[in-house]
Amino acid sequence: MSKLRMRILEINRESGRFFYKTLISPEGEPGLSYFKGRGLDPGTIKHFGLGYAPESGFGLVNHLRKLGYTKEELLQSDMVRTSKKGNLYDRYRGRVMFPIFDLRGNVTAFGGRILTDEKPKYINTSDTPVYHKSSGLFAMNLAKNSESRQLILAEGYMDVIALHRAGFTNAIASLGTSLTEEQARIMKRYADEVVICYDSDDAGQRATQRAIPILKAAGLRVKVITVPGGKDPDEFMKNYGKDGPIRFRQLLEKGGTDVEYRLQKLRDQFDLDTDEGRVRYLSEATRTVIAKLRNPMEQEVYAGRVAQEAGVDKDRVLETVERLSKQE
Ligand code: ATP
Ligand code: MN
Ligand code: MN
Ligand code: MN
Repeated sequence: MSKLRMRILEINRESGRFFYKTLISPEGEPGLSYFKGRGLDPGTIKHFGLGYAPESGFGLVNHLRKLGYTKEELLQSDMVRTSKKGNLYDRYRGRVMFPIFDLRGNVTAFGGRILTDEKPKYINTSDTPVYHKSSGLFAMNLAKNSESRQLILAEGYMDVIALHRAGFTNAIASLGTSLTEEQARIMKRYADEVVICYDSDDAGQRATQRAIPILKAAGLRVKVITVPGGKDPDEFMKNYGKDGPIRFRQLLEKGGTDVEYRLQKLRDQFDLDTDEGRVRYLSEATRTVIAKLRNPMEQEVYAGRVAQEAGVDKDRVLETVERLSKQE
């Protein structure tokens, strides 16, 4: 490994320590009460190495300078930035901090959340010599040790933390960015099945639709669950309290395949109580879902399903699939 990369990993580890120490010091009181307000206990804070970046804007840079890191190294780590006057200042100020670890346990990046509803809510380390957003997965370093060959894919830090606390230590997050092939390849090393559990709002549902083909192309089986009673797994766990873990387990067991999820999204768009609605549902489902399936068994099963829903013969659906495949 190059000298620079090693120095940046050291800077990151030092920064993580600094943020944690600040969090549990008097200066970190706003951060600590923020985490407490979101239901986190000291054990969880320690387990994930959470921290607080001081308001001043110079705490970290002074600390790292004292340890002998050069201006160039600090800039390359993206933990500090330069002002117009050329002075270094802390990238993260007055934010609670989430370290992101690689598979070997190095701290490679951070996410920082503002304590209010100001924007941007989260900021993250940009690409550096030790971190590429396109392959970053939060908590993969922990989830890779879980026994199952299944991963639960959530959107954000707080979702993953809530899921781990509820016993689902196979939860990871893709961190808001749209899922990449690289992230899917990493998941495939540790899992055969991914359960997408993105936010139930429009953004989360659109991201789900985009993630499905990427995960499948990497050879993963895909299931999708959408949490009721709250817009993400963190809110779900909060709302269900001590019943949260059991309720989530039930959702996992009921979780539909990606095909079922996509059919459900279409059903939501049409009124299946009218002839016109059924015709349009059947046409759309056949063209955009059934005809695209590569596995003939799967095609047969879901052709039967939509035919039954629309009250037609399964052979009509399969004939249409055949006709569409000739047009391609
Ligand atoms: P919270 O529960 O803390 O309000 P959240 O995790 O529910 O936050 P979302 O808006 O659903 O917030 O975002 C999900 C994830 O997407 C975040 O955890 C973060 O990793 C990422 N993210 C959100 N907003 C931004 C942003 N402005 N810039 C970069 N990443 C972001
Ligand atoms: Mn969201
Ligand atoms: Mn969310
Ligand atoms: Mn949330």
